[in-house]
Amino acid sequence: MPTPLALGVITSVQPDPNISLASVKSLGVPTIQIDYPGSLDNESGIAVLRRALAQARVEVTSVVCGFAGDDYADIETVRRTIGLVPEATRAERLAHVEKVAAFTERLGVTRLQTHVGHVPEDATDPGYPGVVAAMRTACDIAASHSQVFALETGQETAKTLQRFINDVDSPNLRVNFDPANMILYGNDNPIQALDLLMSFIDGVHCKDGKWPTEPGKLGCETPLGEGDVDFASWLEKLIVLGYQGPLTIEREIHGEQQQKDILKAIALIESVLAGVAA
Ligand code: MG
Repeated sequence: MPTPLALGVITSVQPDPNISLASVKSLGVPTIQIDYPGSLDNESGIAVLRRALAQARVEVTSVVCGFAGDDYADIETVRRTIGLVPEATRAERLAHVEKVAAFTERLGVTRLQTHVGHVPEDATDPGYPGVVAAMRTACDIAASHSQVFALETGQETAKTLQRFINDVDSPNLRVNFDPANMILYGNDNPIQALDLLMSFIDGVHCKDGKWPTEPGKLGCETPLGEGDVDFASWLEKLIVLGYQGPLTIEREIHGEQQQKDILKAIALIESVLAGVAA
């Protein structure tokens, strides 16, 4: 287990984990969440990854399970394509969850994570029971590999997510709270949402963004502290409410600017942590 409130980033470890981990090491953070690396899902790939992690002294806190066909272009496309919500791809995607869970266990990691998709806000929606059942199956798969299954927030309101978690009623279902997503999808206030979801949160994304300005479009992700999350207040409240898990920075751009933005995010988080401790 990482130390409480350990800093981290979300990253790919493909094609060569040594290159990704050199970049993580240069940031000086001790934890990562990784996207499921299909090209390393074999005996030698896992050995290479384990060795690279040990050498870098970096701990994987969760493996993120995405799906072929996931598309985040706009709100309507998200509703149609993401996660376990679309019925047409549900069976093959649950098979993929099994594959990712097996890999995650071989890597020695006990937390899976995904975007389940746009959970219907209306519990009488005819599609709702199927999403609940699929989520329960995904949790059972994770449990059979000794894992929790964490849902990313944001594609629905906190109230809907809370109801969904209660309806799924699986003991290993958790929340990976991404405060920016609530804003980017135009759904909820991430500071108030902590009140509803706190007891399920075992991971977070430190991410920021602006509210959408056009109907049907997502808002715009920003460097941490420059969006509408009020990140410092959000993090203070999270910690005051008792959160002790990792603080995983997510910045969805690439290259040199991403590294610069992450370094600024680390400084911001450290200043909030110092303020809370004082
Ligand atoms: Mg996120």
